[in-house]
Amino acid sequence: MHFSPTFTVVVLVSIWCCVESACPQIISRSSWGAKSPRSKLSLRVNPPPWVVVHHSDTPSCTSRSACESRVKNIQSYHMDNRQWADIGYNFLIGGDGNIYEGRGWGVYGAHVPKYNSKSIGICLIGNFQASSPPSNQMEALKQLIECGEETGKLASNYHVIGHRQGGSTTCPGNSLYNKITTFSRWESNP
Ligand SMILES: [Zn+2]
Repeated sequence: MHFSPTFTVVVLVSIWCCVESACPQIISRSSWGAKSPRSKLSLRVNPPPWVVVHHSDTPSCTSRSACESRVKNIQSYHMDNRQWADIGYNFLIGGDGNIYEGRGWGVYGAHVPKYNSKSIGICLIGNFQASSPPSNQMEALKQLIECGEETGKLASNYHVIGHRQGGSTTCPGNSLYNKITTFSRWESNP
């Protein structure tokens, strides 16, 4: 059987498109200028059965440069003030709609002690006690979780919770928390 070059290219592009489209673009640590971690451990339960949603409880950011600065500040705060090995979260999402790589998939985080060994911590940058994240920021959160589901980076039976369900805190803020409780994978009784 003979395939024309055009046919072959179309098939290859189709495969490339659909494999790629499972996940949104993630801005890598090197792109945002992360410091190297002091140490790095794999999750004890991987793929993890939990996604824990946070807010940064800082001002929001709406451009890539402002969000990169915010992510760097959060990393410095966690490493220098808290003395953690790295930025605490696995991923951060800006009000610019971009996803920034924190510790990344499969890595033991520092965001809620009861769940660090078996979860992915995702932080939406801003304070969402009284106001909700913009739609692009919420959409990026949903896409990142779907990406984890589709690529097997999350356990097939995974569930989503807000930080307050695993610790004594108002995080991720009333407004964002209320949105999370509408997710089909939200767990009311973790
Ligand atoms: Zn939190």
